[in-house]
Amino acid sequence: MTAVLRLEGVYKAFGDTEVLRGIDLAVAEHEVVALIGASGSGKSTLLRTVNLLERIDDGRILLRDDDISDPRVRADAVRSRIGVVFQHYNLFPHLSVLDNVTLAARHVQGVPRVEAEGRGRELLARIGLADKAKDYPDRLSGGQQQRVAIVRAIATRPELLLLDEITSALDPELVGEVLDLVRDLKNEGTTIVMATHEMAFARDVADRVVFLDRGVIVEQGPPERILVDPVEPRTREFLARFT
Ligand code: ADP
Ligand code: MG
Repeated sequence: MTAVLRLEGVYKAFGDTEVLRGIDLAVAEHEVVALIGASGSGKSTLLRTVNLLERIDDGRILLRDDDISDPRVRADAVRSRIGVVFQHYNLFPHLSVLDNVTLAARHVQGVPRVEAEGRGRELLARIGLADKAKDYPDRLSGGQQQRVAIVRAIATRPELLLLDEITSALDPELVGEVLDLVRDLKNEGTTIVMATHEMAFARDVADRVVFLDRGVIVEQGPPERILVDPVEPRTREFLARFT
């Protein structure tokens, strides 16, 4: 089966710092992959290379059959196929919630306003925020903002969703509502790669957990194995911090 995403021998350095050192990773359709690892291990950089926010030094990145690491590829064309949510600063503060959700569909994909807003309102209704459509993001809680950021990321029906520690900046009581939405998307078959520190959530939702240490995939497999019974000492050491 064709992978939705495939990284082959990916290297990335910032000056003398080698951040990704030979990453091989394939993500299947409908698969949810959780990237775990200490701060600085390269999780965000890996996600950013997929979205072409960082250009790689060596290797290849394929989205379906397209080599998106080819320097001639237009970043915009790739980004319109991938939804992304970061830790914070996801929403445009000067746009209403509905305009945030419909922006990419209208201006990147050229979907007519009425149609984009119809789908946008449907998505907001689905996360219980239909009545916030005309509000500005600062009127929403952090959890509501992140849920809007997620529906904005899927409003264009991307082939792949990248989530980078989307609950790290939230108050603990707001984490659950955001993770519930990610779980819903998984159940609908969305292909997701997410960096996370939420081990219980990774165990519950991920099909595969990938442990990254200093830019290398040390160990990967089903959550019950990697999170409960890891083989590699470095994985054990890392997980010991969470118990
Ligand atoms: P993680 O998300 O796992 O915490 P990152 O990918 O953010 O890790 O960072 C990995 C390493 O790359 C860190 O040492 C970080 O300082 C470095 N790094 C990330 N982005 C840049 C950048 N734009 N310039 C220089 N160094 C960077
Ligand atoms: Mg990070």
